[in-house]
Amino acid sequence: QIQRALRSLCIPLERLHIMKGHMMQDMCKGLSRQTHAQAKVRMLPTYICSTPNGTEKGNFLVVELCQSQVRILLVTLYGDGNMSPQIVYKIFDLPDGITQGEGQALFDFIAQCVSQFLAETTSPDTSSSEERLPLGFVFPFTCKQTQLDKAELLSWSKGFSCSGVVGKDVVQMLQSAINKQELSRVDVVALMNDTVGTLMTCSMEGRPCEIAVVADKGSNCCFMAEAYLVETAEETSGRMCVNTEWGCFGDDGTLNDIFTPYDESVDEDSYNPGEKRFEKLVGTLYLGEIVRHALIALTAEKALFTGTDIAVLKEKGVFTIQHVLDIINNEDGTTDVKRVLEVLGLQPSERDCGRVQQICRAVVGRAATLHAVGLAAILSYMCQTRDLETLMVNVGVDGELYTGYSRFEEILQSVSRLLSPECMATLLPSKDGSGRGAAMVTAVALRLAAQRRAVNEVLGPLRLTRADLEKVQALMRQEMERGLGKHTNATASVRMLPTFVTHTPDGTEQGDFLALDLGGTNFRVLVVRVTKEGISMASEIYVIPVAIMQGTGERLFDHIIDCIVDFQTKQNLMTQTLPLGFTFSFPCQQVGLDKALLLTWTKGFTASGCVGQDVVQLLRDAAQRKQHSGLQVVALLNDTVGTMMSCGYDDPKCEIGLIVGTGTNACYMEEMRNVGTVEGDEGRMCINMEWGAFGDNGCLDHIFTHFDRVVDESTINPGKQRFEKLISGMYLGEIVRQILLVMTEKQLMFQGRPSPKLQTRNIFQTKFLSTIELNGLALRQIRAILHELELDASFEDSVLLREVCQAVSLRAAQLCAAGLAAVVEKMRENRGLDRLSVSVGVDGTLYKLHPCFSQNLQKTLKDLAPNCDVSFHLSEDGSGKGAALVAAVASRAA
Ligand code: ADP
Ligand code: MG
Repeated sequence: QIQRALRSLCIPLERLHIMKGHMMQDMCKGLSRQTHAQAKVRMLPTYICSTPNGTEKGNFLVVELCQSQVRILLVTLYGDGNMSPQIVYKIFDLPDGITQGEGQALFDFIAQCVSQFLAETTSPDTSSSEERLPLGFVFPFTCKQTQLDKAELLSWSKGFSCSGVVGKDVVQMLQSAINKQELSRVDVVALMNDTVGTLMTCSMEGRPCEIAVVADKGSNCCFMAEAYLVETAEETSGRMCVNTEWGCFGDDGTLNDIFTPYDESVDEDSYNPGEKRFEKLVGTLYLGEIVRHALIALTAEKALFTGTDIAVLKEKGVFTIQHVLDIINNEDGTTDVKRVLEVLGLQPSERDCGRVQQICRAVVGRAATLHAVGLAAILSYMCQTRDLETLMVNVGVDGELYTGYSRFEEILQSVSRLLSPECMATLLPSKDGSGRGAAMVTAVALRLAAQRRAVNEVLGPLRLTRADLEKVQALMRQEMERGLGKHTNATASVRMLPTFVTHTPDGTEQGDFLALDLGGTNFRVLVVRVTKEGISMASEIYVIPVAIMQGTGERLFDHIIDCIVDFQTKQNLMTQTLPLGFTFSFPCQQVGLDKALLLTWTKGFTASGCVGQDVVQLLRDAAQRKQHSGLQVVALLNDTVGTMMSCGYDDPKCEIGLIVGTGTNACYMEEMRNVGTVEGDEGRMCINMEWGAFGDNGCLDHIFTHFDRVVDESTINPGKQRFEKLISGMYLGEIVRQILLVMTEKQLMFQGRPSPKLQTRNIFQTKFLSTIELNGLALRQIRAILHELELDASFEDSVLLREVCQAVSLRAAQLCAAGLAAVVEKMRENRGLDRLSVSVGVDGTLYKLHPCFSQNLQKTLKDLAPNCDVSFHLSEDGSGKGAALVAAVASRAA
C-alpha cells in the first residue's frame, strides 16, 4: 500500500512534458485578447516595463501586506548602481479578525502603520520637508491592473475576505486612507504583486533578473514578456512583466489525472473546492494537509500506526509545513520524525517513522518538481518568443518552500533543465523578500515618468496634430494655385511645371521605343516594346563618373550618346530610328513635349553650361557632334510622369504620379483652363509639381523643428527642398541621428555617452528605420544596429530608438498625405464631383520597403480627403516604361 501511495505521488517524465505543454498553451490563452477571459492562467499585465538601471535615487516608502502582518519599509537609494540601499523597516501585526472584516478598516489600519512608522523613523527635518514621498504597495492578491497605480482587486485569497474591496481600485483605497492620516506628501505610485517585488529585488547589483518564482503558502511566478504579446495591455514596444497567476493552472481539469485521492480530499476540505488546483499541489498551505490525508488513508488501510490512536490527525491543519520540513530535512535517521510525531500526540513505531518520512518526501518532492514544470514552461516560452536558440536567464526565487526545503533548488534546477534543455536558468535567492524590490519598482516608475516627460518634450515638435496637417494641406493648395497662375508662378515654392503630356495611356499604344533614364540612382538606356500583349524591355546600366557629372555639359551629353551607341550596338538596333523618350528627373521649365529648359541641377550634378538650356537640344547637339543621325527625341519627361504613365497603362484611373525615394515629388492631371502658364483651355495636362520645394518661401517654417534646421544646414542646398527634407529617404536617417544626439545630450539615451561614430553625417541610414520599425522585430536586432554604430544600447534605449524612428517616419508619411490630399481635393473640385475615384502610381524605395510608410500615408489621406477614394499602385520601372508610353501617347495624340 505504501508503495502504491508513493507511486501515485510520483509523476513520470513524459507526463511532466505534457504538463509543460499545457502550461505553455494556457499562458498563450491568458495573453491573447480573444481567450483571456476564459483563461485559467490569467497572465495579468503589471505595467512594469523596465528593470532598474542603477541611477535610481531618493527615499521610497514600501507597504507590504503579508499573511498576518504589515511590513513598512523606508528605502534610500543613492544612484550608485543600487549596491547599498539603506533600509529601515518595522513590522506590524494585523489585529485579529481584520482580514475578514470591513475593507475600509484594513486600509485605515495600514495607513495608521505608515503614519506611526514615519513618526518614529524619520528625523524632524526630513519629516517636515515638502519633498514628496513615493510609496510602493506590495499587494499579493489577484488584481486586474490597468496602470502601475491602478489595480482592481479580482478576488481575495490566503484567508483574506474583507468586504467592500473586490472590484475596487486598491491603490485609490490606500491613498484615501493615507490622506485621512494627513500624510499629504505620501503618493502611492505603484502597486505590485509580491512575485514582481521579488523579481525586482533580485534584479539589483547589475544582473537583470527576468523571472521570479515564489514558492510559499501560495505559488506564483512572473516574468518579462515581449510587450506586443501581452494583448490585454496597450503597450506594444519593449517588454512587460506579466504576473502569471499560475496557481489556477488545472482549474479546467488538465491536472485531474495526477490528483491523488489525498489531493482530492484537501481540495474538498478547502474553502474554494475546484479552484487553484495547481496551487493545492504545490503551496505550503496545503502540503501538510496532503500528508495528513495520506496518513489517514494509509492508517485506514492498516499500513500505518496499527493499533494506535490517530484521532489527532482528524483535525484540519494540525500537520503544518513546518512539521513536514522537520521530518524530511534530516537526511539520516528518524529521530526527528519520531519527535515530531510524538509532539503531535501520535505513537509511531520505527517502521511508521520511516514510512511517514517517505510520504512527506514524496509530497514535497512533487511540489518542487511541479514548480520546475511551471518554470520550464516559462523558460521555453521566453526562448521561443525572443526567437533565440538558447536562453540564458536569471531567476529570482523566494518563499517558504525554497528557504525551508534543502533539495528544492536542486530539483527546480535539474527538472527544468531536463524539460527545457535549450534554456540555462541561474537561480538567485531573494535577500529580503519583496520590499526592496517594491522600492525599486517605485523608483523606476518615477525615473521613467521623468524620462517620459523629457522624451515627449524632445519628440513633441515632430508630432503633428490633425489641425497641423489640415494647415499643411491648405498651404499646399494655396501654393499649387500660385504655381499655376501666370503672374504668381515666379514666386510660388511649388513650381507646378507643365509637362505637355496631355493624355494618359489607353492601352492601345504600340511600337518599339528607346528610353533614357537620368536622375535616379542609375543612368540607364532601354529599349521598350509595347505590343497588344503587353510591354517588354531590355536595359543596360551605365556609370556616370563624378568627373563627368561635375564637368562640362558637352562632356556629359557626349558621354550619354556614347552609352546610347553602345547599347544600340549590343541590341542590334543601329540600323533603326526609334522614337526616344527621355526621363530626366531634374526640375525643368518645359516649353513643349520635346523642349525643356533646365532650371537647376540637383542630386549631385553640376555639369556646366546646362542650366537655362534646352536639354533635348543639348542631347541633339551631342548626337550631331558624334555623328549619330538615327536619333529621334520625341519627349522629355520627369520620373513622376513616367511613374504615372506606366501605372496608367494598366489602370485608366491612374492620373497621379508619386515618388518617395531619395527625394519626393508628385504630378497629376490638371485642367488646361487652370494652367495659366500655357496657352489653351481645352483638355488636361500633366503638371510636375516639384513639391519637394514646398516651403522654400517660408510657409512651412512653423512645422520645422530644431532637427530639421540642423539637417537642412548641413546639406549642399540649404534653404532649398524643405518639404522633401522632411519626407524622403535622403534625410530621414539624418533627422533620426540628430534626435539621438540631442537625446544623448539630455541623458535620455546611451547613458549620456554618444559614440564618435554617431557624430558622423549620414551614418544612420534610412533603411535602418525600416528594420527598426518592423513589427515584432526582436529587440536584440535593434541592439545589433546600435552596436554597429558603436553604441552600447540598453534594452530601454532600443525601445526609445524605435519610438524616435516611428515619430520621424510617421510625420513623413503624414506630410506626404497632406500634400496628396490637396492634390486629390483639387482634382475633385476641378471636375465638379461629390466623390472622386482616382489612382496613384508610386515609385521609390522608401515607399516600397518601409513597413509602415504606405499604410500611414493612406490612412492619413483617407482622413484628410474623405470624399476621395484613392488607390495606390506600385510602379514597375516607371522611368523606362513611362518614357516609352509618353512617346507612344504623343504619336497617338498627334
Ligand atoms: P531614387 O529615388 O534615387 O530613384 P530609390 O527610389 O531607390 O532611388 O530610393 C533610394 C533611397 O531609398 C535611398 O536614398 C535610401 O535613403 C532609401 N532606402 C533604401 N533602402 C531603404 C529601405 N530598406 N527602407 C527605406 N528606405 C530605403
Ligand atoms: Mg527613382
